[in-house]
Order: sequence, then C-alpha cells, then structure tokens
Amino acid sequence: MREGDRPRDLLELIGDTPLVGLRVLAAGLPNPVLVKCEHLNPGGSVKDRIAKAILEDAEARGLLRPGATVVEATAGNTGIGLALVCARRGYRLCCVMPAKMSEDKRAALRALGAELVIAPNEPPSHPDNFQNVARRMAEEHGWFLTDQFANQANVAVHEATTGPEILAQCGGRVGAFVAGAGTGGTISGVGRFLKRRLPGVQIVLADPEGSGLAHWVRTGEVGPGASYLVEGIGSSAVPSNLHREVIDAVEVVSDDDSYATARRLIAEEGLLVGGSAGTNVAAALRVAARDDVDGPVVTIGCDSWDRYLSQEWLRGASACR
Ligand code: PMP
Repeated sequence: MREGDRPRDLLELIGDTPLVGLRVLAAGLPNPVLVKCEHLNPGGSVKDRIAKAILEDAEARGLLRPGATVVEATAGNTGIGLALVCARRGYRLCCVMPAKMSEDKRAALRALGAELVIAPNEPPSHPDNFQNVARRMAEEHGWFLTDQFANQANVAVHEATTGPEILAQCGGRVGAFVAGAGTGGTISGVGRFLKRRLPGVQIVLADPEGSGLAHWVRTGEVGPGASYLVEGIGSSAVPSNLHREVIDAVEVVSDDDSYATARRLIAEEGLLVGGSAGTNVAAALRVAARDDVDGPVVTIGCDSWDRYLSQEWLRGASACR
C-alpha cells in the first residue's frame, strides 16, 4: 500500500491539487497554459485552503472554543469550505452572502448546515453591504469573524502551500502566474512566494471588466466601478489581503469572454469549473501568447461548475439547434 492509499481525514485532502495543461485552448501558443485544479478540493474550491487555515490559526490563538459560532461574509465558496471544517470541528456557522450569488451556492450552504443571511447588493461603503453586516453580527453576538478579506492566514496559506506546489509541479520554471482577486489571498500569497524564488516571473491580475482593481494596479487609485456578472472576483474597494507590490500587469476580461472561456474549458478540456476560471484562463491565454514570457503560464481553476448549473451562462450551453 502506498502512503497516499491509507484512510485519511477529509481535511487532509485539502490542497495538493493537480496541475493540468490546456491541450485545445492553448494549442499553437508559444508557452503552455497550466490550470491548478482547485475545483477538485473536497469542498470544490480554492477556498477550502483558507477555511482550514483561518480556523486552525484562530484555534492556535485561543479565539475558538468547541461550540463557538463562526460568522463569514462570503461569495459562497469560503462558506462551503468553512462549513466542511466547522462540521468536523463542532462549530456553528453563519454565512452572510450578497443577493447576487447563485441559488446553487445558497442551497449548498444550507445542506451543509450553515445558517444564511442574504444582504442586498450594496457597495462596500454601504452599511448593508454583506461584509459590514457580518462584522456587525460578530460584534453584537461575540462570534468569531473569519474576515477573509483582511485575515493574514489567507495570504499565508497560499504562500506556504499553493505557491510551493505550483513551483514543484512546474519543475522549478514558471513564466507567469495569472489570477483574479476576490480577497486577493491567492494572487498575493502565490505571487509573493514565486517572486522570492523566481525574480523573472510575471504576476498578472485577471480583472473582470467593471471591477475597479485593474485601474488601481495601474495607478494606485481604484477605478470607477460598473456592474458585471462573474462571481467571486473583482471589486470596487481594495481588500487588505491584495498586495499591489507583487502584481506586474493586468488583463481585463469581459463577462462574455469569461463565460465563453469557461464553457470551452468544460466542453473542450473537461475541466468542470465556474466562471472565474474562465476569466483567469482568458487572461492566461493572452499572457501565454506574448513573447516576453519565458515558461509555462499558470492559472487557477477556482471553483466547480456545480454551483452555477442553474445560471444562464451554463444552462444555455448545450442546447441542440
Ligand atoms: N473565484 C471565485 C469563484 C471565488 O469565490 C474567489 C474568492 N472570492 C476567487 C476566485 C478569488 O480568490 P481570492 O479570494 O483568493 O482572491
């Protein structure tokens, strides 16, 4: 029996995700495009890593006792990751979600035993914005606020695990790393690790058209926000876990391009991912086409398609004509 074949605790299965090359979408490009399959984590997203890391960090700091309540402002995926960890560790979980998030994500959280509060789609400056609602509830009830947008355990776990895994899986050579930013944890942690090890690597933010972050990377000022549909990435405010100094360039991707790319990832590559992976790969394909990149372009398959099955961009994909 190999070491990996022994019975494992579910939480041990978080991380060490495969890296898969795009055979069809990247055909003919001067650099390969490789997708880190975070959607294959037990909870179906990159957020399993931070859910486990944030709760273990809080336990180590004595902030969480058995039976405690954890409150989280989530686009869905962190909530699902937290629900898995909370169920196994005996914590109660309350998730505050913006109204725009899919019904599939809500159903998944309820099935996992989380309590849901739906907040209106308001900007971060508004008191009813989902993050402000979660903070208020934590203060009023003395609950543990995971605070994924500012909690340093988020960036730290990507620096300690996702970054080293990518470097090892690429045999020590990475031309560029491309990712969108929700909390900024993935791009900041992986970027920080790779820059330290490979000074020539390019770290590229994939930002939805309408998000203010692209303008911020270029100028230091958050750009004017507009609405867009892709879930989980982009913002009209800069989270403290997004570190500008590790980002070298930005690619702005429209909803149409993100969703068309996500549908191709599913249908032509067999990667069963959600819309933000489409944003990432659309940007990564552009970066891989450039001749100033030397080596594979790595990006993230952030979450699983199962949380978007009722959404128009995925539902209409296979209609017979
Ligand atoms: N894609 C999806 C679907 C997400 O939910 C998130 C996290 N909000 C991300 C990408 C971005 O990850 P990060 O928070 O590490 O920037």
